[in-house]
Amino acid sequence: MDIHWHRRDLRVADNTALSRASEPLPVFILDDGVLEHASPVRVSFLLDALRSLREDYRALGGDLVVERGDPREVLRRLADEHGADTVVWNRDYSPLARERDDEVGEALRNSDVGTRTFADGVLHEPDEIFTNAGDPYSVFTYYHRKWEEREKDEPRDKPDEVRNPAVGGIPTVDELGFDSPEPDAPEGGTGTARELLNGFLSDGVYVYDEARDYPARGCTSRLSPHLKFGTVGVREVWEKTQSAKEDAEDDEERESVEEFQAQLAWREFYTQVLYHNPSVVTENYKTYENRIDWRNDEDEIRAWKQGETGYPIVDAGMRQLLDEGYVHNRIRMVVASFLTKDLLVDWRVGYGWFREKLVDHDTANDNGGWQWAASTGTDAQPYFRIFNPMTQGERYDPDGEYIKRYVPELRDVPADSIHTWHELGDEERDEAAPGYPAPIVDHSERREEALSMFEEARGDD
Ligand code: FAD
Repeated sequence: MDIHWHRRDLRVADNTALSRASEPLPVFILDDGVLEHASPVRVSFLLDALRSLREDYRALGGDLVVERGDPREVLRRLADEHGADTVVWNRDYSPLARERDDEVGEALRNSDVGTRTFADGVLHEPDEIFTNAGDPYSVFTYYHRKWEEREKDEPRDKPDEVRNPAVGGIPTVDELGFDSPEPDAPEGGTGTARELLNGFLSDGVYVYDEARDYPARGCTSRLSPHLKFGTVGVREVWEKTQSAKEDAEDDEERESVEEFQAQLAWREFYTQVLYHNPSVVTENYKTYENRIDWRNDEDEIRAWKQGETGYPIVDAGMRQLLDEGYVHNRIRMVVASFLTKDLLVDWRVGYGWFREKLVDHDTANDNGGWQWAASTGTDAQPYFRIFNPMTQGERYDPDGEYIKRYVPELRDVPADSIHTWHELGDEERDEAAPGYPAPIVDHSERREEALSMFEEARGDD
């Protein structure tokens, strides 16, 4: 019999290692090394997912072992207690996870317990797609072309037989020493993931292309934390979107499904960028001639984190993050651009805040997103393309619906005043929304400063 070690694959359906294991004993280990980097919103999502995974195992006549400790010790002990020959798991590609997995594998093999690992969390692993010269891709468009052409595996079968061991309880967020999560934080678990996926495929996917940039329309899948924790299998998502494509009524709908599938490719693109360049976690991917001389003003950073910059679309995004542990993609781009190009703050500060607050924080995607916005990433936004936060708000939230949802001070303010907030006089602002701040910086001035900062870094004369 085999032990199946669950990590970022908290499901029984479409799970590669689990489907290949013999009479699996499923185990999840609350690893103190991982909990050290966790946050309430993600721990809460994880515990929901464990409860739901346990229910899924019980429906198959089995159960899930939940332990706390060092995986090397726990897995060795469980293998001994249950007479397991092998521990199987699905591969994780981030630098810390790879390091941990190497250590666990070595400890098990030293105790005469075999290990087998499988590809599962992505459709194509980081060492599968290279340029014709054999190098990893650094430009998405070319990577995507090859990614798209490759055949995709079908979802895996559920296991026929699982063990029904004596199991430990699943702790609460409190028992693990974390504060309660944000009140509107997303819920974990395979049932929620399936509901989201099916709901999205029944209509959202067909308008995704034209509506995905409009945060008030809420038409994206909201699957990011589920893909991160593996409460949905990526092959299942792919297969179902392929069926949606076949059912599409016209080219527009077909292209819309393809646009969604391209986001899955972005996820795998950033996974392979991180895999081949682990230093990007802390270093710029793109090197400039000189160091970028970030300003890093503490008061401005504080205002950004709390959603009090006086730029309504930025503040709405930052408050969505505080309330829900989630931010819409277009708005992530806007707030990241604002931090790096208007406040001239090092992207690592923003990345650190997102890592603390996001339910879907994923090293590869988060890092990729931040370095893109900061013009330091692979095929990043060029340094001279700087979002105007007022225009972004006007274009993508014309009625101010998203802004008003998260910035209650602006609920009674007409949309055109919201989108010209920077042009109003202090008296007008005080009258319209007394508790809401004036812009903390002047976008036009800061834009010029950002250009100079990058030109200096580039070594331009
Ligand atoms: P959908 O639009 O429904 O997309 C489907 C899935 O594709 C997502 O769930 C996600 O897994 C993937 N995806 C979508 N957009 C991207 C993208 N640009 N890059 C990589 N994968 C993508 N995504 C994360 O999963 N974790 C992060 O920590 C993260 N941090 C980000 C930070 C910044 C500064 C930026 C600009 C983007 C970040 N993203 C991150 C990407 C993107 O914003 C989220 O994946 C998306 O908003 C999640 O919502 P959704 O599931 O409804 O997405």
